[in-house]
Amino acid sequence: MIIDIITVVPGILEGPFSHSILQRAQNKGIVQIRVHNLREYASGKHKNVDDYQYGGGSGMVMMIEPFVNCIEHLQKENTYEEIIFLSPDGETLSQNMANELSLKGNMIMLCGHYKGIDQRIRDHYITKEISIGDYVLSGGELAAAVLVDSIVRLMPGVLNDETSALTDSFQDGLLSAPVYTRPAEFRGLKVPDILIGGNTPEVEKWRFEQALLRTKERRPDLL
Ligand code: SAH
Repeated sequence: MIIDIITVVPGILEGPFSHSILQRAQNKGIVQIRVHNLREYASGKHKNVDDYQYGGGSGMVMMIEPFVNCIEHLQKENTYEEIIFLSPDGETLSQNMANELSLKGNMIMLCGHYKGIDQRIRDHYITKEISIGDYVLSGGELAAAVLVDSIVRLMPGVLNDETSALTDSFQDGLLSAPVYTRPAEFRGLKVPDILIGGNTPEVEKWRFEQALLRTKERRPDLL
């Protein structure tokens, strides 16, 4: 899968994809994540990518032309199944959505900045609008990083232990059970006996009960 991200501040995205699981996924050739500087697709001497709002009002709006130039440039080389705009008024990102997107073909992600992007881009070029939550960020870059991470870790071959993504919170509609590692006792704080006994069916039962309990307490809306 190719994920092309279009941004006016590519520097924000230098870190998130060059470590740990996301870096490993790219090294293994499972995904190609490419960050494109919108300004390189702007015309004119000043390479402007934003302008004043029609109708007045505070906040600059990102112009249609640089985005379209960049999208069309990318489409000459590859076909894309989704062109996603990260936006607070989009559909809220969920585990289900990440699951679905992880099975798709190539995608482009557009990061807004300032007041947002010209509505004509959203009306005519975007196939999906995604929000990462009910709050407003300064730009779509961090949202794109969150979205990419949530998708890529689900792709086959990315996580070493194939089952581990399946036992994470939300995958089965429940929050995850608590986890422990060595030592079995730290300053009198003990790991639950059941996890040490080695009785796998009992451990599974305990984990399910704990997951249910935690979900009831913290997120009854999921049940
Ligand atoms: N004026 C817009 C907010 C602009 S914030 C509004 O009120 O809806 C600037 C950019 O940050 C947005 O265009 C979007 O790309 C990104 N952004 C901000 N909050 C976000 C969120 N919760 N999820 C995804 N992207 C977000």
